[in-house]
Amino acid sequence: MDRTFVMVKPDGVQRGLVGEIVSRFEAKGLKLVGAKLELLPEGRVVEQYREHLEKPFFPGLKAYIMSGPCFLMAWEGKGAVAVVRRMVGATNPAEAAPGSIRGDFALDIGRNVIHASDSPESAARELGIHFAPGELVDYSRIDEPVLYE
Ligand code: GDP
Ligand code: MG
Repeated sequence: MDRTFVMVKPDGVQRGLVGEIVSRFEAKGLKLVGAKLELLPEGRVVEQYREHLEKPFFPGLKAYIMSGPCFLMAWEGKGAVAVVRRMVGATNPAEAAPGSIRGDFALDIGRNVIHASDSPESAARELGIHFAPGELVDYSRIDEPVLYE
């Protein structure tokens, strides 16, 4: 099964959106296999966003991500990486489809509520940055026999 890294950013935590966001992934059938609320240290923010280090928005992005607690999650399920990216929506909330998390809950690209890994490779890398192996839990959800063919 595929696993992906998802994080409610500080604006989403402050706006009380953690429960709504968790509910959407749970209802989809994805399985929560790791979760924690954390103030991210600078080193992990830089690692997470290393592809954007030279971008003009990077200093603002780093300050935003470090401005308050983030809610970090690992979700597991068939095609989890791509499924979650579609549920999250386009990077710019103004262009994100209604029904997506960014489409429903955000307006500004610099305050877009949520992060999700963009490929299986990114997911493995990002899960490794933020979770120790022992923090991810293997278990069965009781609905799995009816959720999958
Ligand atoms: P994502 O994978 O959809 O989150 O988008 P990217 O990997 O392209 O960018 C990472 C994060 O950087 C985005 O989610 C935004 O928080 C931020 N970001 C990206 N582009 C911009 C921009 O043009 N301006 C600002 N202020 N932030 C941006
Ligand atoms: Mg990205």
